[in-house]
Amino acid sequence: MNITNSYTRLPDRFYARQDPAGSPDPLLLVWNRPLAEQLGLGGLEEDPELVARWFGGNQLLPGSEPIALAYAGHQFGNFVPQLGDGRALLLGELTNREDGRPYDIQLKGSGRTPFSRNGDGRAALGPVIREYVVSEAMHRFGAPTTRALAAVSTGERVRRETALPGGILTRVAASHIRVGTFEYFAVRRDREALRALLDYAIERHVPEAAGAESPALAFFRAVAQRQARLVAQWMALGFIHGVMNTDNMAISGETIDYGPCAFLDEFEFDKVFSSIDRDGRYAYGAQAGIAQWNLARLAEALLRIADDKPAFESVLADFEPQFRSFYLAFMAPKLGLESVEAGDDQLVMDWLGHLEENRLDYTLSFRRLADRLWSEDGAGFGEFETRWKQRLARQSPTKEQVREGMNAVNPLFIPRNHQVERAIDAAIQGDMSVFQELLLVLQRPYTQQPRFAAYAEPPGEGERILQTFCGT
Ligand code: AMP
Ligand code: MG
Repeated sequence: MNITNSYTRLPDRFYARQDPAGSPDPLLLVWNRPLAEQLGLGGLEEDPELVARWFGGNQLLPGSEPIALAYAGHQFGNFVPQLGDGRALLLGELTNREDGRPYDIQLKGSGRTPFSRNGDGRAALGPVIREYVVSEAMHRFGAPTTRALAAVSTGERVRRETALPGGILTRVAASHIRVGTFEYFAVRRDREALRALLDYAIERHVPEAAGAESPALAFFRAVAQRQARLVAQWMALGFIHGVMNTDNMAISGETIDYGPCAFLDEFEFDKVFSSIDRDGRYAYGAQAGIAQWNLARLAEALLRIADDKPAFESVLADFEPQFRSFYLAFMAPKLGLESVEAGDDQLVMDWLGHLEENRLDYTLSFRRLADRLWSEDGAGFGEFETRWKQRLARQSPTKEQVREGMNAVNPLFIPRNHQVERAIDAAIQGDMSVFQELLLVLQRPYTQQPRFAAYAEPPGEGERILQTFCGT
């Protein structure tokens, strides 16, 4: 193991040194063996007690210098000049053997830090389980995301509305630099720090920007493009992040901070699950607009060390058409289209309109649509289906090929809210088997798994989850 700490080479005001508090009785609940192997941690499953001490915060990984990162952020539109890692610690970086790049290893729920404010620095097991299963599913869907390496129960109760078992998630990320990290130094008018942060972020995430005429602008353009693509992919998957504050938007373009997130059951453009999102600021259909709003905050921060405001504005103006084109590129194969033609955006809108009007399950409808290729009765997807078949008739693949292609990109299994809740409830009772089974099913989300067919089903009336919570 060779853990490095590039962030500690940045000026002191970027972070606070802090050791994890340690857990009274750390127990390894889940270990992501394939990911561990990629990170050079193969074989550790043979010593689960050591792993529990490391990732329960009781013992430092050799070479690790734990730090809490400073950042600010706009939360629901309101600027908070100091947030920072209040319950997380960056242990350092490990190189991923698959791409040769460094990945942050972070403990989440490992105790108080100088940024904790009134928080206890802890995490309840529920949100740990949720982040684990949803982030790993996101990875299977091919969307950029932070990942989960381990979940440990601490043996300690945390006080939320009730006393709940505590947990620590080990998160792996391309980095933990957020839009809010730039905002933190911008509001302090700390141009030296902004320059250092920009150089660091460029080196780590957009190395090609280093040689550009304006590295800040080239960096911004790349970040904007990644966000446009990410949000398009979320929307194609039916995913609602739920709390797209600027401190929860990673510069790397990875999905980060799985709080009150959820996948849609029936399609609804304005759907909100999060209990704290009363105005629907982060509703399903609002996400592209919010990403653009967050990018405007990043542009403002960067403009403290760059000029050419109109160039930044033009990148921002390009966001919406860029998002649309990514979104169409994700949606076309879901509808069996080989390529995107003029008019396909309308076809997608017609599809969504049909789903919404008939309150149909978003995920399963794509699979059912593929089965309609051979049907000619009127029982399917109404007028949309007729237009869709006319559109398919203009391309060459056979029905079998179309269905195969659709099923390869339309998941049968998603981490449905009610299934995630079931896994959490059992885990809180000390039973990890429900979680393990859900995780297993989600490892092959596109494949029929007859034993687990029930996992593909939308919630029954009594199972419906109406709200999700941050749980912090
Ligand atoms: P999040 O909801 O994860 O985006 O967190 C927003 C801010 O609240 C971050 O600065 C977190 O570090 C902080 N925070 C959330 N939960 C806790 C907690 N239990 N203890 C201390 N700080 C917390
Ligand atoms: Mg956060």
